[in-house]
Amino acid sequence: MSTPRLEISLSKIRHNVQILKGLYGSKGIELIGVTKAMCGNIEIAQLFVDNGIGILADSRISNIIQMRDAKIKAQYLLIRTPFLSQVYETVKYADISLNTEIKILEELSKAALEFATIHKVILMLELGDQREGILPKEIDNVVKEVLNLRGLNLIGIGTNLFCFGKKKPTENIMNSLSKIASRIEKKFKIKLKLISGGNSANYNWFSTTKSTGRINNLRIGESIYLGRETVYNMPIPRLFTDAFILYAEIIESTGKSSNKNRAILGIGHNDISISGITPIANIDLIGASSDHLIINTKQMKLLVGNEVSFHLNYNALSSAMTSPFITKTTLA
Ligand SMILES: *Cc1c(COP(=O)(O)O)cnc(C)c1O
Repeated sequence: MSTPRLEISLSKIRHNVQILKGLYGSKGIELIGVTKAMCGNIEIAQLFVDNGIGILADSRISNIIQMRDAKIKAQYLLIRTPFLSQVYETVKYADISLNTEIKILEELSKAALEFATIHKVILMLELGDQREGILPKEIDNVVKEVLNLRGLNLIGIGTNLFCFGKKKPTENIMNSLSKIASRIEKKFKIKLKLISGGNSANYNWFSTTKSTGRINNLRIGESIYLGRETVYNMPIPRLFTDAFILYAEIIESTGKSSNKNRAILGIGHNDISISGITPIANIDLIGASSDHLIINTKQMKLLVGNEVSFHLNYNALSSAMTSPFITKTTLA
């Protein structure tokens, strides 16, 4: 088998989806499967759908097209707010998008009318992370505008925390999202179907909160793939943290160079985000160049052709999935 190689255990991912779906579902929270780190991988998308995940979320139109072309029967959510230059593609390929900009919403409306379709919209609120979002004091104006735009259907509101600003999803912040949802519904006499409270960083809030309030949806990627919450990077009980294993190959064996514990692997910065990989065996990473990874093998004697295995963080996983130089092998 060729290297570098990423082995993907579908049964471990399936297990994680089922456990998380049951856990969050026990308090009325449905999951959107975030596929952006999988680069449109068909088997994983199909696995989500087979396990009752009805909405797949991706940040790239090209990934959505790949899943659609493979006839994966889901609703597709564009999870990065649409580009002005891509409103037609957004309406054509995504059923739903997250939005923060009136100008984009106006153009989505035009595109929807042209395609004679209805595009669903979730408005994102900025509640402290300082990435995307409408400020709470401005949300009413935006809701009002969206309700007047033909071709658009406002199906919910949401927020995203702990991505840029490292603002944790707290009880207080989740309660304010619930309150904003109820207030909007009352003021505009509408029903918001989705109140989407966040991502894999919401696990601790969920586990400790007395009431999830109006929050009925989370958009989950990392916890499914790597079995962890993302605030403290702790494993979530009963989940697999090793559904993905990376293999690289020794191209210069231990003891060849002047330093007797040193060996070289055939993988480098051009292949993957090296800073996010951790050897499973007791060896140290010394450094990498574009095509080489130098390791200290300590007690171990590694020969040319031997394989060394690694765990990956989310960045490394995402870069491995998008890398043309890393073979992906799915195991049942
Ligand atoms: C990436 C992303 C998610 C998923 O985050 P995970 O930490 O992988 O669960 C959810 N929402 C938005 C807006 C995202 O960009």
